[in-house]
This record gives sequence, C-alpha cells and structure tokens, in this order.
Amino acid sequence: MIKVTVWNEFLHEKQHEEVRKVYPDGIHNALANGIGTDGFEVRTATLDQPEHGLTEEVLANTDVLIWWGHMGHDQVQDAIVDRVQARVLGGMGLIVLHSGHFSKIFKKLMGTGCDLKWREANEKERMWVVNPAHPIAAGLPEHFELEREEMYGEHFDIPAPDELILISWFEGGEVFRSGCTFFRGQGKVFYFRPGHETYPTYYDKNVLQVIRNGIKWATPSGAAAPVRGNHQPLEEIKAK
Ligand code: ZN
Repeated sequence: MIKVTVWNEFLHEKQHEEVRKVYPDGIHNALANGIGTDGFEVRTATLDQPEHGLTEEVLANTDVLIWWGHMGHDQVQDAIVDRVQARVLGGMGLIVLHSGHFSKIFKKLMGTGCDLKWREANEKERMWVVNPAHPIAAGLPEHFELEREEMYGEHFDIPAPDELILISWFEGGEVFRSGCTFFRGQGKVFYFRPGHETYPTYYDKNVLQVIRNGIKWATPSGAAAPVRGNHQPLEEIKAK
C-alpha cells in the first residue's frame, strides 16, 4: 500500500458558496475519494490543523504528499515548508496541483518565480499526452478535454522539467506545460495543472487517472540514502 497524504488549505470551500457547491466536503476529501483504496492508504491534512496537519510523524508515514493551495500560501509556516522540503530531498514524493505553482514549497524546490498567465473564462482545456511511454500516461487516451477550466498559459517560469508528460491547449489559444516531473535529491516532484476550485475537475476520470499514476510514479524508489561529506576510500590508494 502506498501511503498518501492529501493536503488542502481548505479555505475557498468554507468562504465561497460557489466552491462549496462543487466540493461540499473540501477538495481534499474529493481527491481522497477519487484516488480510492486500491493500493492506496489515503489520509488528509489541512492548513488549520496544528502544524498544518504535517507533523514529523505524519510526514514520516507519507510516501507521497499531494498539495492544493491558493489563497493561503502565505499562511503556511516556513518551518513546515522546510520540513516538507527535507522529506522530499530524503525521498518522499510530492504532487503539486494547479495553483500550488505559487506555494512556498513548490517555489523553494524549483528555485524560480513559478509565475504564469491566467484567465477565468469558462473555456475548454485539451490536454495532450506528449510522453506516452511514461508511467504517468498509463491508461490515458491520446488527448482528453475538460469542458470548463481556468486558463494557465506560457511562459511558466519553472526550470526545464526533467520530464514533460502533458501539454494543455486552451480555447483562447494559449498552451501550457501541464504535466511536468522534477527529481530533487532522492525525491520526485510531479506538477499537474488542472483543478481550479470552481470547476468539478477532480471528479474527472482522466484527471484522477493522472493523479493515481503520479502517486505510483512518485513513491520512494527504495534506493539507499547517499552518503555525503568526507569519505574513506573503498580501496587502498597506493602511494605515488
Ligand atoms: Zn485556479
């Protein structure tokens, strides 16, 4: 079983009726239900919990952390961000969704501005698989559509992704690198674009398939932790 923690700031759902109608139990619970129990042991955590629900114990028992945040990025304590970063570098997988592109943890792991173009115009998004051999593309059609989404457009200010799996086209004409992976230390990071809070995106079967695939891909590899610093030779070094 892969141990998954779904983190959501859980603010829009409590403050905006329009969002509550789409996600009455919060985005985190919709995601947890959508991921399901077939191979996954899923728990949730939210901003308002002590230590934002991300205690040392929770993170030590998390293989893959999923992150949804938007209006509360600044409310996330730096000490918790440092703790999550340390776990990622130590091997925990991280899936950053949608507006999480501006979260402290994503910006810290990327080291760039992470800004982009955006527009809320109820437009169609078409996502194309550009790396069909990648495990995150498993079971997906060549392309799939979300009838209404927020637009995110290039340029997306990220480092060149280690792997690019999905590209989005929007009705208004923009394109965006929507499914990107990054290796950081022993950990794996997957950024996945869709999921604006006023649309039912996290009930879409293809979107959920990508997230499930992403969890499996991001789970720790099990490789031994590298030893760094001053090092004794493995073999005798002959005097020259
Ligand atoms: Zn949004």
